[in-house]
Amino acid sequence: MVLNNKLIIIISSPSGVGKTTITKKLLKKIKESYLSVSCTTRNPRNNETNKVDYFFISKRKFLKFKKEKKFLETAKVHNNYYGTLKSELKKNNKKNKVILLDIDWQGARNIRKKIKKNCYSFFLLPPSILILKKRLLKRHYDNKSLAISRLASARKDLKYWDEYDYIYINDKLNKCVNEISNKINDLITENNKRSNIKKIVKKL
Ligand code: 5GP
Repeated sequence: MVLNNKLIIIISSPSGVGKTTITKKLLKKIKESYLSVSCTTRNPRNNETNKVDYFFISKRKFLKFKKEKKFLETAKVHNNYYGTLKSELKKNNKKNKVILLDIDWQGARNIRKKIKKNCYSFFLLPPSILILKKRLLKRHYDNKSLAISRLASARKDLKYWDEYDYIYINDKLNKCVNEISNKINDLITENNKRSNIKKIVKKL
């Protein structure tokens, strides 16, 4: 897949680490960035908007899109289907330089195989398993068994940290956001430098 000089930034973490909040803050901080909106077959949560947070679609439509090869990758997470649309990565081709992907380790692994250039992956960790447990219990305060099952899958997801390029611990939210955005800005600078050099070398 050719994406001009766009940077692909993958952000993964186990459930409850604060990835969605961090991603939203990064979108505000990083100029010329946008979020790749995924498709999902799960139901929207109270605070979520269709086409902004996800394209909420039926399983039938998801499988149709998959058959039509509209996805770059798909995964089953917590018994629901999720998929990154190829069209999301291609949109805003001229305007935007950085695409953020909030996807799990399976999606990260698949995209890394397909996009070799200008693709960087970030993994977020909780400060401790105890803090993660507290966060999940707070989030699902009315459904303790869901919190416990999310904690069990979070423990499994944690094992994939070593497949990622950069690892950050979300202890203090703003500090973590600043560290990640600094790193992304460094990658943007490096990417711009390389594309300028490419132009110069072409003329030699
Ligand atoms: P949630 O249902 O809590 O929004 O997301 C559950 C998990 O699915 C999160 O780890 C999220 O990053 C991941 N996810 C969201 N969209 C995609 C996608 O398009 N592909 C993959 N592989 N994972 C996704």
